[in-house]
Amino acid sequence: MSDAETLFERIIAREIPAEIVHETDNTVAFRDINPQARTHVLVVPKKRYRNVAELAAADPALLGEVIGTAAKVAELEGISQSGYRVVFNTELDAGQTVFHVHAHVLGGEQLGFFGR
Ligand code: 5GP
Repeated sequence: MSDAETLFERIIAREIPAEIVHETDNTVAFRDINPQARTHVLVVPKKRYRNVAELAAADPALLGEVIGTAAKVAELEGISQSGYRVVFNTELDAGQTVFHVHAHVLGGEQLGFFGR
């Protein structure tokens, strides 16, 4: 992992504005700047790992907390009953652009299937 700070460290540090919807001791959740669904929130651990595989290997409890925060966000956004999707884009073929692991929480409308 490179030591270069990513955009998300700067959001966590409040150096770049973002609409934060929830925060725990170890995670922050904020709205995606380019929403792909009516509700589109990103959940990031404050400690940086490059992707979900690195996070899972190094700190499975923190991965659990990220998922728990995603579920909490769904509740707060009022989509926990209607349904939502939690996505970790992992590396380039999946379209990962920010190399600080983050879960996308998507919902608020009927989501299409995705793949190619
Ligand atoms: P990825 O493509 O790495 O899975 O997801 C990165 C996400 O970060 C994208 O959905 C993108 O719209 C979002 N994003 C990029 N820059 C910013 C920003 O400055 N603020 C916020 N809130 N989201 C951003």
